[in-house]
Amino acid sequence: MNPQAFSIIEPYYLIVDLEATCSKNMVLFPREEMEIIEIGAVLLEASSLEIVSSFETFVRPVRHPKLTPFCTELTTITQTQVDGAPGYKEALNRFQNWFRPFGSSHFCSWGEYDRHQFQRDCQRHHVGYPFVSKHLNLKTAYSEALGLSRKFGMAEAMQRINLPLEGTLHRGIDDARNMARIVQVLLGKTSELF
Ligand code: AMP
Ligand code: MG
Repeated sequence: MNPQAFSIIEPYYLIVDLEATCSKNMVLFPREEMEIIEIGAVLLEASSLEIVSSFETFVRPVRHPKLTPFCTELTTITQTQVDGAPGYKEALNRFQNWFRPFGSSHFCSWGEYDRHQFQRDCQRHHVGYPFVSKHLNLKTAYSEALGLSRKFGMAEAMQRINLPLEGTLHRGIDDARNMARIVQVLLGKTSELF
C-alpha cells in the first residue's frame, strides 16, 4: 500500500462527482453535448480524514432539456428535479460559494470524465473553470496505491476493499461520499483491511 498516491498539499480533498444528460450507447447525442444535471461533492479534511461538509445541487440542462428514460433509469434523477433546478451558471456559483470559504482544497474525482465535463460546461456557458488546484484522479491513485496496473470503476474498487456501496450508485452526492470512504479507508484504516 502506497499512500503517496493520494498526497496533496492543500488541507482538504474536494471530492466531486457529476451526473450528466446521456443516452444509451450515446446514440441520441454525442459526448460533447452531454450536460451536467447534478453536482455532488464532499470536503474531506486531510488531517482528520473526516468529511467536514457536503454539497449537492441538480442543474437544469439547456442543450437537451428533456432527460432520456435511460438517463433517469441510470441516475434516478427525474425531469421534475432538473426542471426545478438552477441553470449551470447559478449552480456553479452556489457550488463555489460552498467550498471557497474553506480555503484551498484539491479537486478530486474518479477518472478524468468530471474534469472534462466541467471544462465543456464552463465553455458552453462562458464562465470560468471553478478550480485553482490541479486535479487528482482517484481512479489512478487507487490503483497506484494498491500497486495494481488495472483501473477499476468505483463500485468494483469498493468491492475490492470490502467496502459496501452506500446510497444510490450514479447519484452524484452518493458517489462522492463513497469515493471519500475509499480515501478514508486507504489512508486511515489500511491495517484493518490488508
Ligand atoms: P457516474 O459518475 O459513473 O455516475 O457517471 C457520470 C455520468 O456519465 C452519468 O450521469 C451519465 O451521464 C454518464 N454515464 C455513466 N454510465 C453510463 C452508461 N453506462 N451509459 C451512458 N452514460 C453513462
Ligand atoms: Mg456519479
